[in-house]
Amino acid sequence: MSGPSYRDLSFEHKGQKVHFSLTGHGNLDFLSFSITGRIGHVYEVLQVPELIGNTLSTQHRVDYETKQHVGSADLNGVDLFIRRLVIAFSKKGIRRRFIIAFGVDLDGIDQECIAEAVSVVENTQFLKIVFYDAFPPKRRKKKRALLDQNLAKTGGISELYDWQSAQTSRPVFELLDGPPYANGEVHTGHAINKILKDFIVKSRIGLGYRVRFRPGWDCHGLPIELKVVRKEKAANDIELRGLARQVANEAIYKQMNAFKRWGVSGDWEKPYITMSNDYVSSQLRAFANLVERGFVYRTFKPVYWSPSSQTALAESELEYNEKHESTSAYFRFKFIDLNEKLLGDLPKKPTQFFALTWTTTPWTLPLNNAICVSSKFSYCLVQFEDEMKNPIRDVYVIAKDLVKGFEEATNRSLKVLSEISGQQLVGKHYRSCWYNELALPILEGGHVTTNMGTGLVHTSYAHGFQDYQLATNLGEKVQSFVDEKGCYTRNMGYDLEGKYVLGEGQTEALRLLKKDVLHTSKYVHSYPYDWRTKKPVVIRSSSQWFIDVSKIGEQAAGIIETTDVSAGESDMRNALTQLVTTRPSWCISRQRVWGTPIPALVDKEGKSYISKEFVEKVAEKIERHGADFWWSCSVDDLLDERLRESMGIECPNEELAKGGDIMDVWLDSGFAWHSARDAYEDAESDASADVVLEGVDQFRGWFQSLLLTSVAVQNKAPFKRIIVHGFCVDDDNKKMSKSIGNVVDPNLVTDGSLRQKALGADGLRLWVCLSGSENAGESKIGKNSLLDIEKKIGSIRNVFRFLIGASWKYEGLQPVGPLPILDQYVLSESASFLKRCSRNYERFKFRTVGNDFIQFTQRTISSNYVNFVRDRLYCNAIGSDSHLSAQFTNYQLALNLANVISPVLPHLAAEVLQNLPGIHEKKILRQGFAADACWTHELDPELNETMSIISELRTLVSNAAGPSIDISKKALELTLAEKAFDVLAAIQTDDGFHSQLCELLNASQVKFCRGDVTTVRIDESSRRFCERCRRHTRPPSAAHCPRCSDALKKFR
Ligand SMILES: [Zn+2]
Repeated sequence: MSGPSYRDLSFEHKGQKVHFSLTGHGNLDFLSFSITGRIGHVYEVLQVPELIGNTLSTQHRVDYETKQHVGSADLNGVDLFIRRLVIAFSKKGIRRRFIIAFGVDLDGIDQECIAEAVSVVENTQFLKIVFYDAFPPKRRKKKRALLDQNLAKTGGISELYDWQSAQTSRPVFELLDGPPYANGEVHTGHAINKILKDFIVKSRIGLGYRVRFRPGWDCHGLPIELKVVRKEKAANDIELRGLARQVANEAIYKQMNAFKRWGVSGDWEKPYITMSNDYVSSQLRAFANLVERGFVYRTFKPVYWSPSSQTALAESELEYNEKHESTSAYFRFKFIDLNEKLLGDLPKKPTQFFALTWTTTPWTLPLNNAICVSSKFSYCLVQFEDEMKNPIRDVYVIAKDLVKGFEEATNRSLKVLSEISGQQLVGKHYRSCWYNELALPILEGGHVTTNMGTGLVHTSYAHGFQDYQLATNLGEKVQSFVDEKGCYTRNMGYDLEGKYVLGEGQTEALRLLKKDVLHTSKYVHSYPYDWRTKKPVVIRSSSQWFIDVSKIGEQAAGIIETTDVSAGESDMRNALTQLVTTRPSWCISRQRVWGTPIPALVDKEGKSYISKEFVEKVAEKIERHGADFWWSCSVDDLLDERLRESMGIECPNEELAKGGDIMDVWLDSGFAWHSARDAYEDAESDASADVVLEGVDQFRGWFQSLLLTSVAVQNKAPFKRIIVHGFCVDDDNKKMSKSIGNVVDPNLVTDGSLRQKALGADGLRLWVCLSGSENAGESKIGKNSLLDIEKKIGSIRNVFRFLIGASWKYEGLQPVGPLPILDQYVLSESASFLKRCSRNYERFKFRTVGNDFIQFTQRTISSNYVNFVRDRLYCNAIGSDSHLSAQFTNYQLALNLANVISPVLPHLAAEVLQNLPGIHEKKILRQGFAADACWTHELDPELNETMSIISELRTLVSNAAGPSIDISKKALELTLAEKAFDVLAAIQTDDGFHSQLCELLNASQVKFCRGDVTTVRIDESSRRFCERCRRHTRPPSAAHCPRCSDALKKFR
């Protein structure tokens, strides 16, 4: 009996040599296709004894004629090739069984096509095809979703959350979910957010915690309400709420399925939903607390008002249009009490004085209440050069520093007559431009600057924040003559009534005032828009509910100081501090229906009543009957004598109405720290969540509302740490937008499309890991970035594929005695790699883990280990210590690398654990990242020294060999300096053909001698080619090299 025969039949395929190897063993043939020509060896060496045992004889011979049987096949159609081969064999009456293997480096081989191709012949029962490839490099598109689903089940991904929740001895780690909006489809922004959170959940489980992560949904708000209103007419508020609820429920269902599809672990049985009875009532109880502490008040004051949504907006609901076009106007107001003496001894002429103002909101001119100047500035009295000869002298007041700017803007020259101080102007009066008989004051204003305009600021109390502040300081009554739709009210007279202030209203106002308009022009500047309707907003005073943030903000700033707020290495505390400290008040009321009610009562005079007890009463009713109760109940249902008293109500119930406002949605989700935690009986209600993680845009949104509500209610932060992530752009750094058509649907990434390969959930996850983590800026996604991910996933898969193949039939035996240096080294490198990963997981550095993992598998494992251990693995006798050590090492690497990467790539890890032989836990994350005892093996004291010499030699060898010489068939002659000589002599334990030194340098033969400097010479080996191991190690008279002969003896 002889060993298995091996023949190599190679093809040219797309300019590359592709090896088609056909190996005969007994009555079984083994076909392999690959570019490196090596893959076949794994199966040859590892499977053969098993197969020979079953099939007895090895007489079959396959030779080059096979190629002639088949003809010149193009490997583009590998199915065709095999089909021809099979038919040729069957014609010749050769009964064969085939094992077909595909090289890890060969793309696009489709097993099913091949099975189909040979099925004609197979049906004759003349031939049998056996596929042996449990871990193919890629999966077919349509199977990807199904495969992920199966892996989620068999790999224990689906039940991971429940399993770990039951590990009650573990310390709790809480991740508080910032809820996505329950409207629309999932997008890549969701993917970044939810998958990053899942990295936290899974890595903390791996680090030994019991993680609490209750996913949430933000359900209320205008987009859903508008969607419903546009689609169908609801008969009443309750019906509208019902329809809105339906929209939210559908979106939650869809989004939840997508999140699960991505492998995200969480308490899916108990999500928190801001529209649920439990959540709303809990939110109201927290709100009652704010009422009790006196933070909630109602007042008439300017707010950002969206005419298009007909509601007040919070700062966070604005987006600024940098290219907004306003009309700017220079406008004059006629002074009543400026004295001609100011002009000195100019010739006597009838003179009138005007205050020169400038505005970018001319629609507010009819609403003018005052003009502000600064007493610190100097002003000039000027005349237009082109009006000097007029019989009546028109004199204008303008800030000295702005004369030039005015001349440039209007293209008219001014003559300065004299100067006057701001101080002299304060207290003077001018005539109202709208009500002729009304005299209005010139006021001192701290906000006046000489950056733009004229230094005299047109002031309209109801339509500017500083303007309003001024009025309050003066005790002036503020009234608004612009309605909810942004139109002038009846008070403004017939000409303006009902006209939209940002449209025809403004045009009409300017027309009516035209004798005092000196100049208008287009003015492009940054202007706030309603982020939902994309329409401009106005500043308008109205009665709204507010939370007084001024004091809370200071306290919040102090808390931020001691909190970690970061994206990767960058500290982002300042961004948040600035926002919470510059926000004087928070407008929390919205004039809509789809939301949590602000439980208040209003009397005939418009006076509002609210109290802690009343809010709590409503909360209790809602808990029992649902939030619609507020819209269906009567005032009598809510009030009893005790409550009337607590609210200070004196009028009868009939004169009271329920308030019509709902809460800002940021207040809904802002109370998540309070309401989302109610589901856990063992949770300490005042404990802070360990982490919150959201996009950088949430500085203006959720981070802030969460912090402010918590500080207001419980004087502390609801989280210990904030992690910030960025947003998606396409390959060209363009923001994703439906109109450009560059939006990437995460479902297409996972499940593929006509143009996009299915990358599976792990493809999407790897993209998040490498692009979306440790970064508050842009995360690129597009064709190129996905191609890159596909390559990376493929190369990670291939490394695992090798490790699994090498562990074939490994049964958990521990090698006896010290391991070979090569194995020791890779194991010790792995041990420190695993420690490093744990540390990076601990610090939420997922991108670092991902990059490190790719680097480690490609460099340390693939280039520096696999390439060198192959020979021992393929050719050393099975059962020998050296072979066992190789298998043991490969197995340990596969197991521990799968464990450590399972937070990022859970499906791949599950697939590895399932395919890896041996007795270990087949479900992911049931043990720690480096739980196995293998790492305690004793290391050679000279290990690092040896490997640093080897690494230096490898560089010398590869420089000397260049790309064309195959060192594995050559001899190396080394000259070694003193120390290196001693170290390497210890691992050259034989005649220099099969020593560890040969393995470490991957050469057929190594000889060395002492010298002054280390040098390398490449030479021919003194032995012949060994057909089995393909090295020049065979003594001339023998059939095989001693090592192969020894190995083959074991087959007999
Ligand atoms: Zn050999």
